[in-house]
Amino acid sequence: MEDQFKKILSHAKEYGFVYPSSEIYEGLSAVYDYGPMGVELKNNIKNYWWKSMVQMHDNIVGIDAAIFMHPKTWKASGHVDAFNDPMIDNKDSNKRYRADVLVEEELAKTEGKIDKEVRKAQKRFGDDFDENQFRATNPRVLRYQEKIDAHQNQLNEAMKSNNMEGLKQLIIDLDITCPVSGSRNWTDVRQFNLMFSTQLGNIAGEESSLYLRPETAQGIFVNFLNVQKTTRQKIPFGIAQIGKAFRNEIVARQFIFRMREFEQMEMQYFIKPGTEMDWYEYWKETRLKWHKSLGTSSEHLRFHKHENLAHYANAAADIEYKFPFGFKELEGIHSRTDFDLGSHQKLSGKKLQYFDPEINESYVPYVLETSIGCDRMFLAMMSESLQEEKVPDSKGNETERTVMKLHPSLAPVKAAILPLVKNKEPLTNRARKIFDDLKLEFQCQYDEKDAIGRRYRRQDAIGTPYCITVDFETLEEDDKVTLRDRDSLGQRRITVEEAKAIVLKETNVSRIL
Ligand code: ATP
Repeated sequence: MEDQFKKILSHAKEYGFVYPSSEIYEGLSAVYDYGPMGVELKNNIKNYWWKSMVQMHDNIVGIDAAIFMHPKTWKASGHVDAFNDPMIDNKDSNKRYRADVLVEEELAKTEGKIDKEVRKAQKRFGDDFDENQFRATNPRVLRYQEKIDAHQNQLNEAMKSNNMEGLKQLIIDLDITCPVSGSRNWTDVRQFNLMFSTQLGNIAGEESSLYLRPETAQGIFVNFLNVQKTTRQKIPFGIAQIGKAFRNEIVARQFIFRMREFEQMEMQYFIKPGTEMDWYEYWKETRLKWHKSLGTSSEHLRFHKHENLAHYANAAADIEYKFPFGFKELEGIHSRTDFDLGSHQKLSGKKLQYFDPEINESYVPYVLETSIGCDRMFLAMMSESLQEEKVPDSKGNETERTVMKLHPSLAPVKAAILPLVKNKEPLTNRARKIFDDLKLEFQCQYDEKDAIGRRYRRQDAIGTPYCITVDFETLEEDDKVTLRDRDSLGQRRITVEEAKAIVLKETNVSRIL
């Protein structure tokens, strides 16, 4: 798994997907830039999300709110008082950790021991093995599980009651050592606010203090009435937004999984109070289907129900993806009640209510949120698609290729136009003309450098679903080209028009909407 992660990191850099930010100055911790291939993939992810949310639902509309918001927004939302993570430092390594994550990682190690027992037993019993029964009855597994449950409860309690001493005690009880120094020389656990702050230029005093938004959702809440009135939407309806968010994360490792500047794709669905559990289930299923529609394996996706609920939620679940470093949150589905609209109404003194003509009553709507990190989705797509496989070369000998089997609608380049040889007129001229024609329809790349086999490999490595090869027969014959399929490696001799139609059809996002 670790190897796979290293491969993703070096692939991302080598092929222009992701670079460390300001790399010539040794980079900036947990900040990354997207390169030429990365920006295409990211735009395609955003495009698919936007279309499935906004275009496909006549009761969901989009907005693009500013990153800066009135500072009171963050008071009302609870972020000033409660958007904290518990932090602990190791005095020997001077490394900083999230105390809850240290505990969770320790518990995951015990879970790993259970999995090992299961695998051992599976080997021993073969086809007769009943995993559920084994997990429910094996004394060693039960002992491990009991330990995990007890410590998980302690963790949940400590987090819920803001008990920082309790959290430190748990770290001591579990005998957790610093992964860098190996020592148990810990500071106390302290709360750390994750919002970045800055100053407004022309105002002095407290009012001048601004925050970079830590989530895009609040831009939707404060615009709730504007949008509802201007679009005359009736409840239930949703507002969708894609935009940057900023969090001063304590531990920011794992590449683009946890960044200090990242992008969210959020949708707030305004509903009648009391209907939230139905909508919660509806959006959980809808969002899971969305992930599967891109070809992500069911085995790499799962729900994780929150026990320790955020201050605004009455139910919450994550869609977790099996990243190379284990199952982690990719998207959150949160039932946010009327917490946000209610608090903004109180602090601003402005009514944020909906008049429901069906019951002739006004109320503050409840909200169901789906929130997915664009960068995490990007990493999930890289993890899911990057493969090394053995394929026959042009002489039929076995060779290895690196290929990104991205869903065609997400691929940065949809088709590569390749003249068989370079600098050979009129062949290259004809290939250029085909490129100029096709680039009006979809993202193309023209490449004439190196042998054709190497050019195919380069396109495989960036996930291009189709290569269109132009050879001398194209000129002499009937304008036919060779269309090569990335996954099957099948080659078809067809006209340019037919090739265009296939690429358009297969890479069009509407096929999976
Ligand atoms: P985590 O528990 O991993 O810190 P979270 O529960 O704080 O995440 P939410 O507040 O629910 O995350 O944010 C919604 C989504 O935004 C997450 O599911 C994730 O995909 C994305 N996200 C949150 N924080 C980051 C980050 N630091 N870097 C990249 N994406 C992030």
